[in-house]
Amino acid sequence: MGKSKLAKTDRYTVEHSRSTYRLNAWGQGYFKVLADGHLAVQPGDEAGGSIDIFNAVQHLRSEGFRTPVLLRFPQLLEAQVRSLVGAFRRAAKEFDYPEPYLPVYPVKVNQQSSVVRGLLEYGRQYGLGLEAGSSAELLGAIGLDIPRGSLLICNGYKDPDYLGTAAMAARLGRNVIVVVEKPFEVDQILEGAPDWDTVPGIGLRVKLQARGSGLWEKSGGFTSKFGLTTLQLIQEISRLKSAGLGEKISLLHFHIGSQITQIRKIKTAVREAARVYAKLRKAGVAIRYLDVGGGLGIDYDGSRTSADGSVNYGIQEYANDVVFGIHEICDEEEVPYPVIVSESGRMLTGYHSILVTDVRGSLSGTDTVKVRLDPEPPQVITNLMEIEEGITVKNYREYYHDALEYRDQMYSLFDHGMLELADKADGETLFWSIADKAMAYARRARYLPEEFSDLKTRLRKKYICNLSVFQSLPDHFALDQLFPVVPVHRLDEEPTALASLVDITCDSDGEVDKFIDLRDIKDALELHELIPGKQYYIGFLLVGAYQDTMGCHHNLFGRVHEAEVLLAEDGSTVFRNLRPGHVARETLGIFGHDPATLTTGVDRILEEMERNGDLAGGERDSILEDYTSRLERYTYLGESVRETS
Ligand SMILES: *Cc1c(COP(=O)(O)O)cnc(C)c1O
Repeated sequence: MGKSKLAKTDRYTVEHSRSTYRLNAWGQGYFKVLADGHLAVQPGDEAGGSIDIFNAVQHLRSEGFRTPVLLRFPQLLEAQVRSLVGAFRRAAKEFDYPEPYLPVYPVKVNQQSSVVRGLLEYGRQYGLGLEAGSSAELLGAIGLDIPRGSLLICNGYKDPDYLGTAAMAARLGRNVIVVVEKPFEVDQILEGAPDWDTVPGIGLRVKLQARGSGLWEKSGGFTSKFGLTTLQLIQEISRLKSAGLGEKISLLHFHIGSQITQIRKIKTAVREAARVYAKLRKAGVAIRYLDVGGGLGIDYDGSRTSADGSVNYGIQEYANDVVFGIHEICDEEEVPYPVIVSESGRMLTGYHSILVTDVRGSLSGTDTVKVRLDPEPPQVITNLMEIEEGITVKNYREYYHDALEYRDQMYSLFDHGMLELADKADGETLFWSIADKAMAYARRARYLPEEFSDLKTRLRKKYICNLSVFQSLPDHFALDQLFPVVPVHRLDEEPTALASLVDITCDSDGEVDKFIDLRDIKDALELHELIPGKQYYIGFLLVGAYQDTMGCHHNLFGRVHEAEVLLAEDGSTVFRNLRPGHVARETLGIFGHDPATLTTGVDRILEEMERNGDLAGGERDSILEDYTSRLERYTYLGESVRETS
């Protein structure tokens, strides 16, 4: 956990940054600050070395992949697979659970080829399978290199087409199980089965009385969109049996939602499902797999509480409760133990990627720069000047109150036509400079005097970030989900600015103004002052689950550049699968704008201009060429800052 508070007089070090950004609380040991103030990813243990994120960004920039850029760290996928399977194996050992545990990755959490392939590669030795929620996801899964025995679970609403794809997968020797979510799907299985070469395995999703917790609570419980009620369960099993498909029923499934914040909810659901399993076993349904779904959460804010952005349990506790609960109920009911399957998606992918972007500037409603426009200012301005010079830690409250008075006086004089615009500019600048100083003194006080709490919000900066929240952090605007935000360099310098973040879309929801904190949510983040002529890069962390797949093309900002970054055995950094983000032509194309038609449109304008003699020789071609080349550019803001050193 965070270091104890160091005294104010101590020199600022990377240790301070580590505790300011609470790296150790939410980072699972994967993130660290290097001595030079750069943020780094550490896929293995301390001795194994780390990947310098700032250097990686610089390298990619030199290859033409400027920010925003999404860095994927496949080794973190690997580490999470190991951690999940390890937890279940330890639990099986501790509770003497004889049957294996099988991880299944639900592809909807992140369908990116690099993620799915990575998980399959590292999960191979543990029999990791895939879960598809649609025919398209299943078609993708069939073509991937899944070991024969690994599970291929089909969820989501099914139509004859989706079921036909599943039957084809079964014919190809895949261990495919179609999970019945609704009775009408059984109708379709019964209709389709006679035509299939191979009938896939059948699973049953039960609606539990138990519900999840947190933002995704609706996915469980009686009102959930999915699952069979107890009566439906009995009826559908009997229909399948009469059709001679009883033997095919091999899996019982439940899923009470994602990011379950309380372990109690998981325990209750597992026990309820285990009871249903046991009763069905006793009734002669030979179910082999008990699939406990997803829901294993990530502690995004590092508070280890049942707050929405956190979870009040760890991976080992989760695995222990699942294994112990199933074990105990099977013992009580004297039925064979099932193979335990879980569909953790968030936990496996959440840590693996970081979105890095550059800060383009700062917005503030207040000018505090020292520019005096009027060399012989009126009395009210002179008064403000004296306050600005004389304010100290001892008198700041009184002086600030005086400044408020002079400011009002100044506005009233201006309204009556007795001040020039230059005087008003001087007065406003002086006032905000006084406020800035007063705020700095107030912050040092044990408690913030009331009149300063509003001021704090006024003085807060807004940093403009070269990204689209809608494309890259959709859950932040849709669900208020919080992600840790950390500068990727300068972590050896004290962050003296407080800022919220705005994106470059023209939507006022495109803002990040809630940040993780130990007990609360803060509305501004400690960041560094921007230095003119220098890039400032910040990273959004733990964005590997769902964010890649739910984004939208608001303002036609498209997919960002991506790269896989790995730590080689010799400690060097290796880049793989550099994938350029969308260019304007592509995001326009997504919405049906044909580039050729657009170009013709421009040419038509040029033709008319040419006819009217408005174009110089060769200009028609050069403008047209310019237009088409602009269609090939990255949709985000281009380089503006030239590094001065
Ligand atoms: C979304 C989903 C999951 C994944 O849940 P996580 O909480 O991300 O692990 C698993 N199973 C089903 C059926 C799902 O719909």
